[in-house]
Amino acid sequence: METLGRTKIIDLLRSKDFGTSFLVKGWVRTRRGSKQVSFIALNDGSTIYNLQIVAGSDTFDDEQLKAVTTGACIAVVGTLAESQGQGQEAELRASSITVYGTADPTSYPLQKKGHSLEYLREIAHLRPRTNTFGAILRIRHHMAFAIHNFFHDRGFFYFHSPIITASDCEGAGQMFQVTTLNLAELKKAPCGGVDHSDDFFGRPAALTVSGQLEGELAALALGAIYTFGPTFRAENSNTPRHLAEFWMIEPEVAFNEIEDNMQLAEDFIKFCIQWALNNCIDDIRFLNDHFDKDLVARLQSILDKTFVRLGYTEGVEILEQAQRNGRSFEFPVYWGADLASEHERYLVEEHFGCPVILTDYPKEIKSFYMKQNDDGKTVRAMDVLFPKIGEIIGGSQREDDYDKLAQRAEEMGVPTKDIWWYLETRRFGTAPHSGFGLGFERLLLFVTGMSNIRDVIPFPRTPKNVEF
Ligand code: ATP
Ligand code: MN
Repeated sequence: METLGRTKIIDLLRSKDFGTSFLVKGWVRTRRGSKQVSFIALNDGSTIYNLQIVAGSDTFDDEQLKAVTTGACIAVVGTLAESQGQGQEAELRASSITVYGTADPTSYPLQKKGHSLEYLREIAHLRPRTNTFGAILRIRHHMAFAIHNFFHDRGFFYFHSPIITASDCEGAGQMFQVTTLNLAELKKAPCGGVDHSDDFFGRPAALTVSGQLEGELAALALGAIYTFGPTFRAENSNTPRHLAEFWMIEPEVAFNEIEDNMQLAEDFIKFCIQWALNNCIDDIRFLNDHFDKDLVARLQSILDKTFVRLGYTEGVEILEQAQRNGRSFEFPVYWGADLASEHERYLVEEHFGCPVILTDYPKEIKSFYMKQNDDGKTVRAMDVLFPKIGEIIGGSQREDDYDKLAQRAEEMGVPTKDIWWYLETRRFGTAPHSGFGLGFERLLLFVTGMSNIRDVIPFPRTPKNVEF
């Protein structure tokens, strides 16, 4: 047994080397059978499919198989044979079985199939062993790989923006503070607030909500960059689309105008979806069959369509017209309102029937760094809106004029003293440039067809939830 190297189940299932000996290792999904023969479904994580192990009573007695229960980890040596059973081509006729770890059937939490997703969240340490989470985690890996591939092939450089930051560009209250101060003995500053002079950085610091500002600095040197890292937002919104810790991809490109930015976003998302269909189809089909019967068709349909480009003003008119025709929304619609997910989904799912890139939002509801249009009212923002998701990407052309940028920061109450370095890029060699942020888990929601963002990240962080 020691001399035989281990073969992964994904490779064995493709093998036609019938009659040859193989060693496999994995976790028992089920064992069933009769007095004469036991069938063990073994999974090693390499594929959604199980390998059928056949253990005959001529080789194994009941005592030897007693520990081979659901959840146990075993190694099996056997001969590959063409399967007599339906649904699989190959099976392994076992000659020896070694049990690495037992899983007591009276306490192993994954006994039966069809546990609810809610229950599985409570056992996040074990849920990767289910078919569903195996599929999701493999797809997650492939999507990360696709993203690096897409940008690398187009000459973008992977840029590492910092995770700890002193700038709060997106507005206070959303950031997780980072401190080494003893919270039980906080010193007050003379003018109120907390005295940070003894703190690790000597000033307030926090976990980043976006790598964009630093990404812009890099784009204005390297030309085209992307970041791909964890992002933290202490927003207290317990929705199926928000996490407190999520991963974001933020490309930033010098000389790109808003139209180029839209095209990049569309090409990028389509590339990722095509990649998923090409590389993860077994896992996607599993999710299609068990959770979302339209998944494959929906993914395919995105590839076939050109995303609609629509101004915010026209978007609001369509929504107002829908209201006049009797469609009701929970949140109000008027020019100047921040659109809610229900509005975004109405445009995408009911009105156009395809993804929409909404542009030129009122400047009041968007960030200070977005390029101002000549109308004095709107900025060159672009949100990509997707079926089932709503906003999947948020981006813009950036304001490249120093005076306009500084003035807008002032007006919106952004502490310019903390971002002097950002403003300086507009003083020295400024250039038109654009970028966007894609929430990795929002993309995964779309690609997996899952409906809760807690189910597409291994260990979700949400309000009051940081176990595991
Ligand atoms: P939303 O309006 O959905 O809260 P946002 O406008 O705050 O999103 P941006 O600041 O534009 O989001 O961030 C860029 C992208 O990051 C979003 O389009 C979305 O895909 C993703 N994203 C934002 N917040 C979260 C979150 N809390 N959890 C997961 N993904 C997020
Ligand atoms: Mn946004």
